[in-house]
Amino acid sequence: MCGIVAYIGNKKCKNILVNGLKRLEYRGYDSAGIAILCNDSTSEGGNCLHRVKVIKKAGKIGALEDELENIDIDGVCGIGHTRWATHGEPTEVNAHPHTDCSGNIAVVHNGIIENYSELREMLTKKGHKFVSQTDTEVLPHLLEEYYDGDLLTSMQKLVKKIKGSGAVVAISGYNHEEIIGARIASPLVVGVSRDGNFLASDMPAVLEHTRNFTVLNDYETVRLTKDKVEIFDPEGKLVNREPFKINWSISSAEKSGYEDFMLKEIFEQPYGVKETMRGRITDGRLNFSELNLSTQQIKNLKKIQIIACGTSYHTALIGKQIIEKWAKIPVEVDFSSEYRYRGPLVESDYLLIAITQSGETIDTLAAIREAKTKGAKIVAITNVVGSTMARESSSVIYTHAGPEIGVCATKTFTAQIIVMYLMGLYLGKIKGYIDDVKLKELIEELNFIPNKIQNILNRANDIKHIANKTCGHTCFLFLGRIYGFPIALEGALKLKEISYIHAEGYPAGEMKHGPIALTDKRTVVVGIIPEDFVYEKILSNIQEVKARKATVVAIATEGDNKIKEYADYVFYVPKTMDELYGILAVVPLQLYAYYIAKNHNRNVDQPRNLAKSVTVE
Ligand code: GLU
Repeated sequence: MCGIVAYIGNKKCKNILVNGLKRLEYRGYDSAGIAILCNDSTSEGGNCLHRVKVIKKAGKIGALEDELENIDIDGVCGIGHTRWATHGEPTEVNAHPHTDCSGNIAVVHNGIIENYSELREMLTKKGHKFVSQTDTEVLPHLLEEYYDGDLLTSMQKLVKKIKGSGAVVAISGYNHEEIIGARIASPLVVGVSRDGNFLASDMPAVLEHTRNFTVLNDYETVRLTKDKVEIFDPEGKLVNREPFKINWSISSAEKSGYEDFMLKEIFEQPYGVKETMRGRITDGRLNFSELNLSTQQIKNLKKIQIIACGTSYHTALIGKQIIEKWAKIPVEVDFSSEYRYRGPLVESDYLLIAITQSGETIDTLAAIREAKTKGAKIVAITNVVGSTMARESSSVIYTHAGPEIGVCATKTFTAQIIVMYLMGLYLGKIKGYIDDVKLKELIEELNFIPNKIQNILNRANDIKHIANKTCGHTCFLFLGRIYGFPIALEGALKLKEISYIHAEGYPAGEMKHGPIALTDKRTVVVGIIPEDFVYEKILSNIQEVKARKATVVAIATEGDNKIKEYADYVFYVPKTMDELYGILAVVPLQLYAYYIAKNHNRNVDQPRNLAKSVTVE
């Protein structure tokens, strides 16, 4: 995820670009840059060549703004980018725009190019010189390679060449009167006004200039001049598409019309899950070499330790179940804050996996430093490229959920779960416990997960209804077994975090060892009850609480009619494999917590006493 803005028109573009980027900062904020076509030009082969001026800075947009304060550029055509790195650390050289060898073509990009290494190799052989570690840099070089006097046709060739996701926007010194864009599965909107035309990742970037927009569809390209917008379909034919008018305020547009970032981020989960699988599952094959361990090192692994805090700890519990089941390697899970002080036994044939959304969680950092001194190999799982955790680990697996603004973790959790599934599959395959048939079956099912999450989100109103009916209760117990247990913990944590109502997650079989004493008519029991191999067992547990007059909310598998006899409210999730139910079941629980909190008028994006990244002990 990142923010793109581009403008061509009658006005100077510098401030339009910077203000647009500020409006898009919620999409990414690790570095930023602009490229502007200057008014001065030289003559090359009888043609007029305009200078492309690129200015970029690591850090937030404020740093770019400070840099630009003393730079006077008159250009009226330019592109801008605020980055959320996926490939290459958030440094100045990796910041966008990127240019070709001549410096005459500048490109900004949002997304991931899966085949960038092959393309980079091919272009290097042809003599192109690369300066950054990004996947994006292949784009200006490809445009340079294809350029035959028309940037649009070069872009159309490029779209056919790249695999992955992207919104790509380019300008060139060869023609200072146009901006060329393309959409390959990442958003790009066209804004139209009397003073010029815009491209942007999202409407808020340019809402102060226009309310008239057109969207691009996948694999379409666009040519923008100051008074014309031409859209071309994937075959290169001109498309006739009228702009529409939007009435959103800027602040609601930043949230894509959702009331809160949390809700927006819950709804972004199909995207986050898909992006996290991107390049790791390609054409039915699993590619997880970024784990950076040799086959022999994996075969020799004696134990895996996973450490994490908060929601990431629940991912760790899922990881334990998956890795033990699929790869048959013993896994220990610890809270980072406990691990660092309990003097854990660590040996050189152990692997330590540290999970942290921000990559800055202080307890997790301290814990890996401790384990490193004892010789463990460290793998970090984080959503932030170049974070301290990423820099201090032997290898790093990034979740590609995009920046999470809401304090409580939602889309980063499901992206982390995907990493655990991929890791389990990869280790299991190398250890010889997952054969090709099982691998194919699991990969096929993983590919369905984004759509299945979407199916749940489409029925968010059903969850809202259940939340409205049950929000007056003061005690909530979330029960699950095996794959449902970490999800029960996560459901309870979400509710506590944003509604401030007491909630506990418990393994359902443990109820009679304590928590059942809490159960009476004031209690809501939320059961995660998929039709898996412990279905009958958890049904008995649910009957126990029902007999004590609790209100039962069941998260069940579609088609399960029997559950209606036991539960007061049922929400169905699509069928999947036993091991994968967790990633589906958590989505209605996030929504449930959200709607209960809204009933209590809570600030769900900034709950009291909580911070997004816990950098103090
Ligand atoms: N993959 C590109 C990079 O890492 C673009 C990331 C983005 O969408 O911000 O630079």
